[in-house]
Amino acid sequence: MSELNLILFGPPGAGKGTQADRLRSDFRLPFISTGDMLRENVKEGTELGKEAQKYMDAGDLVPDDLIVKMAAERLQAPDAQDGFILDGFPRTLEQGKELDKLLSQLARRVTAALLIDVPDEEVVRRISGRRVCVKSGHNYHVDFDPPKREGICDQDGSRLVQRDDDKPDVVQNRLHVYHEQTEPLIEYYDERGLMRRIDGTRSPADVNDHIRAVIATLRMEDDV
Ligand code: AMP
Repeated sequence: MSELNLILFGPPGAGKGTQADRLRSDFRLPFISTGDMLRENVKEGTELGKEAQKYMDAGDLVPDDLIVKMAAERLQAPDAQDGFILDGFPRTLEQGKELDKLLSQLARRVTAALLIDVPDEEVVRRISGRRVCVKSGHNYHVDFDPPKREGICDQDGSRLVQRDDDKPDVVQNRLHVYHEQTEPLIEYYDERGLMRRIDGTRSPADVNDHIRAVIATLRMEDDV
C-alpha cells in the first residue's frame, strides 16, 4: 500500500475535528490542522501568530504565502512521510495548486479529498455550542457531545472555552469565506477524480463509518 495523503474538507463546524480525532486513533497518520497550528503560534506569540491573529479574529483567511510556507514545512516533517490527514488546508485554489506543486516535487500526490457536507443552518447550530479545551484543542458540544464534567476536558482535565471565531457574527463571515474562497476547490478535486462526498448531517459514528469505507476503497483501488 502506498501512502495515504488525505484532505478533509467542509465548512466550519462540519465535524472535521471530531472525525480527525477518530481517524487519528484508527490510522497511524499525523493529523495536520493549519487552524490548530496557527492557534498554537498565536498562543506562543510568534511573529506568524501576531500576523495571523487579526485575520483569524475576523474570520478571514490568513494570506496564502504564510499558510503555504507553514504547511509545506509540516508536510516534510519525518512523521508525515508515510501519509497525512490535512484539515483546513488547502482553503483557496491558490493553496491547492501550491500543495500539488510541493507534493509533485516530493514525488507524492493527494490520494483523495473527503468533503464532509453540511448546510449553513446546521453549521450555525453546531458552532454555537462548540467548546474546545485550552490545552490540546479536544472538541465538545454542550448538547451533542458534552464533557462528563461541565467546562472540563475529559481527556486532559483542562478548561473548555468557546473560540473567539465561533462567536455568531464571525461564524457568518467564515461561512461566507468558505463559499467564496474554499468551495472552488471542490471542482478542482472533482475534475481530478479525487473528491469523495460524505453526508455530514449524520451522526459522528455514521460519518466515521462512511469515511472508513471510503479509505478502505481507496486502499483496494491502490492495491489493484
Ligand atoms: P480552522 O480552525 O481550520 O477553522 O481555522 C481557524 C482560522 O485560521 C481560519 O478562520 C483562518 O483565519 C485561519 N486558517 C486556518 N487554515 C487556513 C488556511 N489554509 N488558509 C488561510 N487561513 C487559514
